Amino acid sequence: MSRGARLRPGLGAALAGGALVAGLVAGPTSAQVVSAGAPRAGGVVSLAGAAGAVPDPGRLGPVHLDPLPAGVSLDVPDRTGTLLARSGARASVAHALAVAADSVTRPAGTPGIASLSEHVRPSCSGSGTDGHRVQVLYLHAAGTSRYRQVLPVLRNEVANVDDVFALSARQTGGERRVRWVHDAGCLPVVGDVAVPARALGTDFWATVAAVKARGFTSPARKYFMFADAAKICGIGTVYDDPSPTHNLNDGRYPSYARVDTPCWSGAHSTPAHELTHMLGGVQPNAPHATRFEHCWDESDLMCYDDGSGARLRQVCPASQEQLLDCHHDDYFDTDPPRGSFLARSWDTARSSFLDDEAPRADRSGTVPRRGSWTRPRVRDGVLSAALTDASGHVLARRAVAVQARWRGAGTWATLSHLTTDGAGVARTRPARARAGWFRFASSGVTSRAAYLKVPVRLR
Ligand SMILES: [Zn+2]
Repeated sequence: MSRGARLRPGLGAALAGGALVAGLVAGPTSAQVVSAGAPRAGGVVSLAGAAGAVPDPGRLGPVHLDPLPAGVSLDVPDRTGTLLARSGARASVAHALAVAADSVTRPAGTPGIASLSEHVRPSCSGSGTDGHRVQVLYLHAAGTSRYRQVLPVLRNEVANVDDVFALSARQTGGERRVRWVHDAGCLPVVGDVAVPARALGTDFWATVAAVKARGFTSPARKYFMFADAAKICGIGTVYDDPSPTHNLNDGRYPSYARVDTPCWSGAHSTPAHELTHMLGGVQPNAPHATRFEHCWDESDLMCYDDGSGARLRQVCPASQEQLLDCHHDDYFDTDPPRGSFLARSWDTARSSFLDDEAPRADRSGTVPRRGSWTRPRVRDGVLSAALTDASGHVLARRAVAVQARWRGAGTWATLSHLTTDGAGVARTRPARARAGWFRFASSGVTSRAAYLKVPVRLR
């Protein structure tokens, strides 16, 4: 769902609010432009400003400002109290700092995902500034900072983004967290950045130019801007590049996204939506992509009526609305099945701006136990195993990847995805003409392997 920007080489004409915004011609090396997008109805944003603002605007397509999500208005009050109340981040700043500074403690705040009672723990890898990182910036007009007041809201939004990536990854049997720029205590850093007031209007490129002038220009960063303004919902850059490796979205160029106050703490995470754009989703060659780099197989955080003319189809349950990639076949799968689109094309779950989060020790040095699998067994051609948590309770309806290591091969490959039943049992019927070892994986917990000589086919 909702709000972003996207780019594509080539050209386009876009409809916004039923009116043809403009013809737009953008070649690989030049970008002539067009009109500014209408922040309420969405539309095409001037590409002219992208020249000089991003290193290679020709690789961007027509930048599209998403229409406002249902129920969102730019006219809502953005008083601090209103923002805090909507966030549910009732914790005081001091409490948020104290709690979140403990790297093994979950961030304070109220998760936006209804099924979560608390946020997932953030990544705590490296120095906090090494390698590729997503850097959070609070942008405000000089002299009007509400940094301390809104910090709990922004920390909660950052935690919501991690929740989206963690839960979406678990649907495919993996774990992912955002590689935030974080401090020594693994607390994501929220930069306090003053910009000229004119940089907080509807012109996204003026915003980008302002932060670049402050030195935020590294290809090793994705600059994630929370703007203290109520001019737009959200917008973010995407480079059109389906390459599975050395992708333009994976550290070749700096990336920028902006989310204004009306879309802080929404029912759907606009920040997670914009970050997914910066990571390279949804590429136009994906099976269910729209030409505005969203998708049409609802429910899905990146799918919605974006003015592209694509007709939406309800394919996944409404619960997927807050998560990434309905059926994990267009832009996010931690372990795409062999031969699938995401195994051959760019998969944002492969981004070097995400960490594959493993369980880590708490302060006493104890690594928390996750779940465990019963020993897989084969009966009447069906391979099965049961998943329980550390206390022995069955884990029902958990996403599971079925993996195989073929006889003579050294590595495991994911064959398919399934879900445990009400008793926590995963079942699959092999019917493949090759012998090999088979196992189940869920949230980083893998079962023992069962060797099958019989011809099998997993589905
Ligand atoms: Zn979008």
